[in-house]
Amino acid sequence: MNADAEVVDAHVHSDAPRPVLSALEARDVSAWFGTHKVLERVSLTMEAGQVTALIGPSGCGKSTFLRILNRMHELVPLASLAGEVVLDGADIYDRTRKLTDARRHIGMVFQKPNPFPAMSIYDNVVAGLKLTGIRASRDEKDEVVERSLTSAGLWREVKDRLRQPGGGLSGGQQQRLCIARSLAVKPKVLLMDEPCSALDPTSTRVIEETMGELQKEVTIVIVTHNMQQAQRVSQKCAFFLASQGTPGGIVEHGDTDAMFSEPQDERTFDYVNGRF
Ligand code: ADP
Ligand code: MG
Repeated sequence: MNADAEVVDAHVHSDAPRPVLSALEARDVSAWFGTHKVLERVSLTMEAGQVTALIGPSGCGKSTFLRILNRMHELVPLASLAGEVVLDGADIYDRTRKLTDARRHIGMVFQKPNPFPAMSIYDNVVAGLKLTGIRASRDEKDEVVERSLTSAGLWREVKDRLRQPGGGLSGGQQQRLCIARSLAVKPKVLLMDEPCSALDPTSTRVIEETMGELQKEVTIVIVTHNMQQAQRVSQKCAFFLASQGTPGGIVEHGDTDAMFSEPQDERTFDYVNGRF
């Protein structure tokens, strides 16, 4: 097997065919917490193999939108949800599909690294399979652990201490362990909600470099408050805003370079230049 195939194979096990990268499309997504409408008809295509950055002030609905993209909001219940989220032509809200189906294809990483601290590094990665109902043999697990930790840029640092607890790693390593856990099932999309806000600049830089490699195998959506980071890691960008009591929506989206160098909307200009 050549090295390229090893990185990008389609399924959990390494002899599977090369994947076709997937786009994730939100269509007219609106959402309510109680009577408070937090998102208003948000439509956005997150293109295959690209990193899309979601930017915008606090409270404009970025995290809510991200959770809706993989049905994670079912843990933080919304009063109501409208619209569609389409992956490879299928609505992930199709009630005939199991929740674990959506989760298997769309992984998520949060702001605060949340590995199972007492669990070993090895078992933390394997937990990514179990959480979505995948069973694997010992050999398959070994393979998944090495592949996932390699893709998350952590293999070399931990390969000699896989049986040590995940909680013993540094913050940046813990976050990469969480990325590895998400990658265990070979998701098509990886959602990252401010994955570096709790990390120091060096750990942040390592994760950004990891993302550059990762996007060859998975479509990435990242929420970030760091405008430099958005410019460093993303090719596409969407600016969310909720102003004066109106629900959150996208003011402008497009190529990241263009959004920062020649924003079309004055509010985007002000935001990317740190004016609010
Ligand atoms: P962002 O990630 O852009 O900061 P959020 O998606 O967290 O924004 O929040 C969007 C809006 O939804 C905010 O007005 C927030 O107060 C509200 N909100 C978020 N979570 C809940 C919840 N669990 N219950 C009620 N309102 C919520
Ligand atoms: Mg948020």
